[in-house]
Amino acid sequence: MTKNIIRLETENTLPKSTGVVIIGAGIVGASTALTLAENNVPVILIEKGYVAGEQSSRNLGWIRKTSRHKEDVPLALAADRLWAEMNQRVGHDLGYKQAGIMFLADTEQQMEIYQDWLDSVDAFDLDSKLLNASAVSAMLGSSNKSWKGAIYTPSDGRAEPCIATTKIVEKAIQLGVKVIQNCAVRSLSMSAGRVSGVVTELGEINCDQVLLAGGAWSRRFLGNLDVSLPTLPLICSVIRTKPMTGPSDIAVGASNFSFRKHHNGGFVITQRGALDAPVCLDHLLIGHRYLEQLKHQRSFLRIKLGKHFVDDLRMPRSWRSDQKAPFENVRTLNPRSNQTLINEAMTNLRNAYPVFEKAEIEEAWAGLIDVTPDSNPVIDHVETIPGLTLATGFSGHGFGTGPAAGHLAADLITGREPIINPTPYRFNRL
Ligand SMILES: Cc1cc2nc3c(=O)[nH]c(=O)nc-3n(C[C@H](O)[C@H](O)[C@H](O)COP(=O)(O)OP(=O)(O)OC[C@H]3O[C@@H](n4cnc5c(N)ncnc54)[C@H](O)[C@@H]3O)c2cc1C
Repeated sequence: MTKNIIRLETENTLPKSTGVVIIGAGIVGASTALTLAENNVPVILIEKGYVAGEQSSRNLGWIRKTSRHKEDVPLALAADRLWAEMNQRVGHDLGYKQAGIMFLADTEQQMEIYQDWLDSVDAFDLDSKLLNASAVSAMLGSSNKSWKGAIYTPSDGRAEPCIATTKIVEKAIQLGVKVIQNCAVRSLSMSAGRVSGVVTELGEINCDQVLLAGGAWSRRFLGNLDVSLPTLPLICSVIRTKPMTGPSDIAVGASNFSFRKHHNGGFVITQRGALDAPVCLDHLLIGHRYLEQLKHQRSFLRIKLGKHFVDDLRMPRSWRSDQKAPFENVRTLNPRSNQTLINEAMTNLRNAYPVFEKAEIEEAWAGLIDVTPDSNPVIDHVETIPGLTLATGFSGHGFGTGPAAGHLAADLITGREPIINPTPYRFNRL
């Protein structure tokens, strides 16, 4: 858990009925709740742990268009517009700043990949551009590494994950949303062939519609309803330094490190070239659907067979709604950060930018990411369960698009004109 997260106090009495129940108070559930409340839709937001306890407070806070799949760019552009007005919308500074994002290249081949991406998103008129080595030095100062160049998007930015989701939820509460923490939703109630409510560990709530925004838990929740959502887990380890002077306010990613300025003056750092891949039963069940992704990303993955495998095997995959659900045993996913990856990140960063020799580490943490086979989320109704909508599977880049994803989910629920064309996020593509 990050030290800085603001914890919300909520009173946990369960109302009997509402219009929409949202399962999961990460940035996606929170943004959906806010959008629905602004449209006078009655909402109950239910969280098994605490608001933003999982991915939404643990991420790096990057808000980027750069290197997104081209079909995901419209959502990112819509999110930029929403982030720009979010402080005013929620009445609090969420640390949003368009300070720019730069991805460095140490090979010509990497520069070609950036050029190919630029060509693929040509239709969007983005402000992304390639920089040569001297432009990189001019912007980041001198480095011990000789970069071939970079791709840079000035309008990309950041916000503070330890603040943003909680403040969005706080605003939603002011607009009438009821938030219940420490309460797992076990399953759905059905009547006349459609969703009529949810069964929680504290009792039942009747409702017209349910949104599942359960992050890494959505696959297990849906599995119990005989719906297969393919996601596999990855774990990313992060550190934050004490306040210090660094190379730039721009967020910078290289092949084996990344850094971005934190609002308290420190830097948030990760080993960008490595993620832990904890092996679990799902690798056997759906791993074949990731072969294409694996071709490009095998070198990123530190495959681990260990405790996660056993814990996962012990966790039920089906249960009745009068039985304890797995979500009640793991209130908040809190994977251990990987010291080896942290050491690598610091060594690689210090070798490139010696100013980080002076960095003092304030805290380290890790978060578990839910990855779909094409790395795009699902934001769609579930055809076989009328009344159930999904906004999940954000594959490690859903904080930046969260406000727009929540808006889109709210549009689908209310039947309003969608904020963007939802086709790329259809469930039946997976
Ligand atoms: C280390 C790390 C770095 C990242 N960096 C970035 C970045 O820089 N930029 C970016 O855009 N994205 C980043 N991401 C990804 C981003 O954090 C996620 O895509 C985003 O936060 C997903 O939001 P969410 O609301 O879908 O999920 P979550 O924040 O995980 O929220 C889901 C919530 O649902 C709750 N829940 C699940 N099941 C139930 C149930 N049955 N009953 C009640 N509650 C339930 C969970 O407890 C959880 O709180 C990063 C992720 C990690 C872990």
